[in-house]
Amino acid sequence: MTHTPFSCPCGETEWHIEAPKSGLHLICYCADCQTAARHLGADTVLDAAGGTEILQVAPEQITFTKGAENLGVLRLSPKGLMRWHTTCCNTPVANTVQSPKIAFAGVIASNHRGDPKALGKVRAWVNTVYARGARKPAKDQGMGRMAWTFLSRAFVQFTSGRWRNTPFFAGPDMAPVATPRVLSKEERNRARP
Ligand SMILES: [Zn+2]
Ligand SMILES: [Zn+2]
Repeated sequence: MTHTPFSCPCGETEWHIEAPKSGLHLICYCADCQTAARHLGADTVLDAAGGTEILQVAPEQITFTKGAENLGVLRLSPKGLMRWHTTCCNTPVANTVQSPKIAFAGVIASNHRGDPKALGKVRAWVNTVYARGARKPAKDQGMGRMAWTFLSRAFVQFTSGRWRNTPFFAGPDMAPVATPRVLSKEERNRARP
């Protein structure tokens, strides 16, 4: 298996992704991704149109090789996505859903340190209604592909029991490895794009 390296900008946290080309490489322009990045003070993960470049994989493909204890998790609302980030330098790492049984991780691609080609081509542009500026994409593309990949991945991971291999949840009750912090309405509004 081939893997490709990732690290936060300060270098205290490192991870890699196995078989990155099996993932779906996309750009999400949604207001929530922008809000999370802005709240963390990590606007540098956003492109000029407000997009976040993401590689969607199964959590078992992610291995932390340094500073796994630096994981923190943020939620924009009590039911929002689990937005994992480093606590060393407040850098977004990956998004998961609340239940590890739905095996899914959207890894933030700006931390990628390997050959750019390792992640494959960008194949979906989603929530473009929230994009802005001159380089804003005209419309969403690849939504069907994204939904299909999500469902088939989660199905295989669940039926095989491989959903249990995740760096984000642990223990007999598969609890999150960090305590989620839910933003207040004020904090959320302040960071809105
Ligand atoms: Zn998003
Ligand atoms: Zn760091």
